[in-house]
Amino acid sequence: MILAFVAVIAVFLVVPLRRALISARIFKAFRRALPSMSQTERDALEAGTVWWEGQLFGGRPNWRRLAAYPWPTLSAEEQAFLDQDTDELCRLVQDWEATRQQDMPAPVWQFIKDRGFLGMIIPREYGGKGFSAYAHSQVITKLSTRSSAPAVTVMVPNSLGPAELLLHYGTPEQKQHYLPRLARGQEIPAFALTSPWAGSDAASIPDAGVVCKGSWQGREVLGMRVSFDKRYITLAPVCTVFGLAFRLYDPDRLLGGESDLGITCALVPHDHPGVEIGRRHFPLNAVWMNGPIRGQDVFMPLEFIIGGPKMAGQGWRMLMECLAAGRSISLPGSNTGMQKLTARAVGAYARVRYQFKTAIGRFEGVEEALTRIGANTYLCDAARIMTAGAIDLGEKPSVVSAIVKYHVTERARQTVNDGMDVIGGKGICLGPQNFLGRAYQQIPVGITVEGANILTRSLILFGQGAIRCHPYVLDEMHAAQQGNLQAFDRAFWGHVGYTVSSGVRAAVMGLTGSHFVSVPADVAPETRRYYQQLTRFSAAFAFIADISMGTLGGALKRKEKLSARLGDILSLMYLASATLKRYEAEGRQAADAPLMHWAIWDCMFRAQNAFEGVIANFPNRFFAMVLRRLVVFPLGRPYVVPSDRLGHDVARLLIEPSATRDRLTADVHLPTDVEEPLGALEAALLATVAAEPIEAKVKQAQRAGRFQFVAAADGGVDALWRQAFEAGVIDADEFALLQRRGVLRDKVIRVDDFPLDFGLKASLCDGAALREAA
Ligand SMILES: Cc1cc2nc3c(=O)[nH]c(=O)nc-3n(C[C@H](O)[C@H](O)[C@H](O)COP(=O)(O)OP(=O)(O)OC[C@H]3O[C@@H](n4cnc5c(N)ncnc54)[C@H](O)[C@@H]3O)c2cc1C
Repeated sequence: MILAFVAVIAVFLVVPLRRALISARIFKAFRRALPSMSQTERDALEAGTVWWEGQLFGGRPNWRRLAAYPWPTLSAEEQAFLDQDTDELCRLVQDWEATRQQDMPAPVWQFIKDRGFLGMIIPREYGGKGFSAYAHSQVITKLSTRSSAPAVTVMVPNSLGPAELLLHYGTPEQKQHYLPRLARGQEIPAFALTSPWAGSDAASIPDAGVVCKGSWQGREVLGMRVSFDKRYITLAPVCTVFGLAFRLYDPDRLLGGESDLGITCALVPHDHPGVEIGRRHFPLNAVWMNGPIRGQDVFMPLEFIIGGPKMAGQGWRMLMECLAAGRSISLPGSNTGMQKLTARAVGAYARVRYQFKTAIGRFEGVEEALTRIGANTYLCDAARIMTAGAIDLGEKPSVVSAIVKYHVTERARQTVNDGMDVIGGKGICLGPQNFLGRAYQQIPVGITVEGANILTRSLILFGQGAIRCHPYVLDEMHAAQQGNLQAFDRAFWGHVGYTVSSGVRAAVMGLTGSHFVSVPADVAPETRRYYQQLTRFSAAFAFIADISMGTLGGALKRKEKLSARLGDILSLMYLASATLKRYEAEGRQAADAPLMHWAIWDCMFRAQNAFEGVIANFPNRFFAMVLRRLVVFPLGRPYVVPSDRLGHDVARLLIEPSATRDRLTADVHLPTDVEEPLGALEAALLATVAAEPIEAKVKQAQRAGRFQFVAAADGGVDALWRQAFEAGVIDADEFALLQRRGVLRDKVIRVDDFPLDFGLKASLCDGAALREAA
């Protein structure tokens, strides 16, 4: 018996023995189970870097590391650009007018180009602004509080427009030619990947080019004959140059390599012979330009390839590498902007609008919606800022970019929907007085683009996270692909030790309520428990992720519902971390604490539900039992929904002016003119708050019989105040304030009306005319 035990231990400890007797068999099975992967899938999985999410995935988040990441700030020049140029652009854009015209006026286009909005990410040496990712994100956020027209127009050239690709991969000649022109707005870029036949599965684009000889500028040169049919391309109708993704073939091996070279990215002038641009799609009443680009057998010289002929076939990797930066900024910025607008405007409206003689924001039902609006806005802004900071640290965090893209757009949808519910008919009737309806129309765009959300949640968040963030899986896969048993043995046994330790740690933390988890002494005391619980969840996640991969193997790719819930847990831990980081970075503002508490409590409750969802649906019931009873919830589930009391505190923050409200909605473009809906709302909120004690005084005097209210024949809303004034209950100033409140409230609650034909008989302009105007 003892001998047998010693023999078994020896097999495990003597590496060559272990490798030959155990690891070799597992290696064989692992290679069989490894799902087959195309080069494009491999490129997508391996692109980018791993950042804070790697800590959360690994089960032992180092909170000191989170604390040490710098919280981004703006340089003086960036701040001035945000406060002056961006604000001026906001003032210039009248969203309703632009919607009616279906374009921004020519002077606004010119302003965008002249002030360098299209070249924010282009370095100064090429004439660009050379802004940080954070500054770029701030500009997009602010523009989005005003109108999606300038926001989208500015964000595309600065994200996955050709500039990003040129910067990383362009030849010196391409950079010298295009970057200064793009920075000055002499070129308007677009990027054309999506085809009618390949949307989410973009790697399968049928658009193809064949390497061949042809005539270019009077000479015979080596080039490509490319056919393409692209749709949904933002800025296409007005672009002067576009990035084109297609599959390149070289059947005659003229380039000396493979015959199927793979996806290739080229930069094509809009007026290149054979290119067809011009008409426009109409994405949910958007003002910004979007349309198809087509071409049949278009001959292009090889120098059109971004990076030159040596980059033929490298397009997918290039796109995947660059996607992380843009995806971390554009949609998180624009969708947080819409949330800030909602928090600011809807909060004010809920105080100004009375029903049943009460401000609607004081009803518990409305409070629920306001609470979500406030906490989601706080959390999304935290995630947006922290992630932009990661880009500025030089990261290209592919998993994090998917997390913020998915969760910020989903929460923005919830926030804007909540806002629409709170403002009722005011949000539904479109027109210049409607401050939210246009955001509501545009919200689904963010859900669909840059990786449609269902796919992102089901396939990417955990699928890519599991491979990129896991401390051992990528090494195991590489070893298996290369047939390297030695490397596999090392990675595999490291993996086993890691899984066992995660499981034991999660179980111990579960049994002790994670009270003994060590947390840096200098975190805010009121957040200490969250750090402890997040460490526990992180260990439990590491274990459940390993059990899922170990028992389901390649089948996990098809178990999208399980994969999605695992992705939710990872994401929610990231969002909670960002919220904690923000709270610390902003100096632990006590007045903001309800926003932080509600957001984190909600994340933890949702993460707990996601754990429950995985366990309840886990195919192997034995492991499900082990997970639930021994590891994840040994003493039951620790979190309940955030309390109504806390929700009330959050909602209150939205309906009154305060430093917290200003911090929550920082950089919302706020017009001072009361003829603008937001200007009227702000003024009406202040007047309402000031009028409330006077109103109370009048009501009290009325109850005490100091005057008898006689309904006015004209039904005027001021009649009560006039009679109170005449009875000496209030003075002239108080009466004037109540009158002003009445005028402003009237402005705020009114909606627009139009002639029967809306005056909109003019047909849509064609692309050529628009390009002319731009
Ligand atoms: C307004 C707008 C602007 C755009 N701008 C550009 C641009 O500038 N350049 C460009 O190249 N493209 C652009 N796109 C294209 C955009 O990226 C695609 O629309 C997007 O990739 C989704 O493709 P699809 O619309 O064909 O949806 P489909 O691929 O048909 O997907 C439909 C649904 O199925 C889901 N789905 C698909 N596969 C899976 C799966 N395996 N698991 C779970 N769910 C899945 C998706 O999540 C989605 O919900 C734009 C699109 C729009 C609408």
